[in-house]
Amino acid sequence: MLKEERHKLILNELDATGLFDLKAFSRAYEMSEMTLYRDLQYLETTGKLIRISGGAKLLPIDSCVVCHKQPQSKRQRITLHLISGVEKKACCAHCALIYLEKHIKEVQQILGTDFLMDTTVNVKRANFVIGANLPHFCCDPSVYLFSECKIATQFTKGFGGRVLSLEKAIEEVSEVMSCCKHTKK
Ligand SMILES: [Zn+2]
Ligand SMILES: [Zn+2]
Repeated sequence: MLKEERHKLILNELDATGLFDLKAFSRAYEMSEMTLYRDLQYLETTGKLIRISGGAKLLPIDSCVVCHKQPQSKRQRITLHLISGVEKKACCAHCALIYLEKHIKEVQQILGTDFLMDTTVNVKRANFVIGANLPHFCCDPSVYLFSECKIATQFTKGFGGRVLSLEKAIEEVSEVMSCCKHTKK
């Protein structure tokens, strides 16, 4: 089989299952593991997949619309559903706020995850905690999402920070970010 044909087969397998099991594939298609291994090495350089132990997985397409980072955790990730039907991801609420500062009119629905409860939150009506005293695990200043104002307030009593509405949070983050740029000059 030609190299190109093998690459196509591998990518088809990845599209179908999200995972590529090198051993299983080599048995099913009677191809040498070494050949497939080299194919995976090549395909990785083209940015189509990431090699993992025992095979490969698809490169996630949900990198952040603002900073292009891969979301660190599902809990932090924000999904922006645009009116145009396009779906965009932000790595965390911080980047979502930066995006919304310029594009809020294009966005129909924004979904995130409550920081404590792990439930889905309508970001437009969420409470944002900015400046909490926790080691940030995505972007700085970190922004935490809460569906209930009461819980957000309780959280700030333990970890500091302030509870803000979406509009105020957008203002705050853009101010802090422009202030950073300002001092860097
Ligand atoms: Zn980001
Ligand atoms: Zn982030």
